[in-house]
Amino acid sequence: MARACVIGAGAAGLCTARHLLEEPCVSQVDILEQAPQLGGTWVYTENVGYDDFGLPIHTSMYKSLRTNLPKEIMGFPDFPVPESDKSYLPAKDMLAFLQLYADRHGVTEKIRFSHHVQLVIPKQGPSGELWDVTYKNMNTGVTETKEYDYVFVCNGHYNTPFIPHIPGLKEFQGDVMHSHDYRVPEVFADKRVLVIGAGPSGMDIALELTSVSKKVILSHHLKEHPRTVFPENLEQKPDVERLDGTMASFQDGSEEEIDVVFLCTGYLYNFPFLHESCGIVVEENCVEPLYKHIVNMKHPSMCFIGVPYYVCAFSMFDLQVRYYVRSMNGTFSLPNPEQMAEHWEQEKRDRAARGFTKRQAHMMGPDQADYYVSLSEESGTSPLPAVFTKIHNDSSQKFLDNLTKYRDDVYCVIDDDNFICY
Ligand code: FAD
Repeated sequence: MARACVIGAGAAGLCTARHLLEEPCVSQVDILEQAPQLGGTWVYTENVGYDDFGLPIHTSMYKSLRTNLPKEIMGFPDFPVPESDKSYLPAKDMLAFLQLYADRHGVTEKIRFSHHVQLVIPKQGPSGELWDVTYKNMNTGVTETKEYDYVFVCNGHYNTPFIPHIPGLKEFQGDVMHSHDYRVPEVFADKRVLVIGAGPSGMDIALELTSVSKKVILSHHLKEHPRTVFPENLEQKPDVERLDGTMASFQDGSEEEIDVVFLCTGYLYNFPFLHESCGIVVEENCVEPLYKHIVNMKHPSMCFIGVPYYVCAFSMFDLQVRYYVRSMNGTFSLPNPEQMAEHWEQEKRDRAARGFTKRQAHMMGPDQADYYVSLSEESGTSPLPAVFTKIHNDSSQKFLDNLTKYRDDVYCVIDDDNFICY
């Protein structure tokens, strides 16, 4: 009987715990969560910087956020988001949904809140590999080390800001902020704001700032310019070439005077608690070596839930957990280390040939349907309905086409393959 440690009680950790608690081959499930509440990303706080215990604030949630995907694909495959007349929900509804999910599956009472994992290290046991996990109870200050057979890493990857190299950024004479610390637009009232990055957060926040800021310059390198008609005080520009004093120069030769550089440049994978003997390396934001973006190839009794992005996140978490649990209980066998390594190398070659950079190693997007099928087919677990990917694609396109209005749409799933939207 296996003892499992789950690190984090965001959507990925809750889903992991739910399946492990139902799994006969698992005798013990410890869910260690550094925060005093569950939900991870979906917890909103006005605070930035560090929490009361000196830990970096984890959440990057801002006050006005509504989901960028419809609720019809935001739930778990067997536990959908409850009915409502809207498809795109505020963050507080998603947090309430996760609370409901955890309560209904008996997960909440098992979570050890305010328990910060500090070190994970493999060791040899009498009949195979084991893990020592060291964690600190933030309320009592007591540090403890406990032994496990399996470790599930579910610590999220939207909390460590990626700061790009831009000549002159360090010397910039105005304010510099990352979207991780963004909460409300008022801090930018009457300012000339340079927003760098046009991912989901960059676009949403740039639009939100137009209501209070003097001018918003949205700098990005999207191949296709969003077709959204933005308010007049938002101008799109190519990449920033350099910053000088309070001037920004762009790749098209133009210049703008600005007050704030607002970095919406994304996040870094970060596993500060993994000892180097865990064998996991993050380089150019590629986490290696992971088989199917899940299994630590050096130590297959460690897995990562939630690494890929541009996915139907909660459903993918569920599929990844079901996949891995079936390898634990012997329903199928993972390939041997050489085969896993060959698979990953082939995947990298294939992605590179299609123009993906190393930084995009875990970006699914157009690959998500194939990825889901490969997990369900290899492990024999039930697949995700094709309609999920179809809605994801439809919503993502509408995001680019009409950022100001796309959240008015309401989706309705007809069957596993079809949906309507009105
Ligand atoms: P998290 O939610 O980050 O949870 C990780 C948990 O691990 C946290 O509770 C954290 O406290 C805990 N933890 C971390 N380190 C430790 C440690 N050392 N010890 C103990 N506990 C630890 N996705 C969508 O599908 N739709 C959206 O509309 C959407 N909007 C988003 C908007 C924003 C602003 C952001 C930042 C992300 C958004 N996402 C969205 C992505 C979202 O993060 C994922 O969907 C999902 O919630 C991630 O869940 P997770 O469990 O992997 O990570």
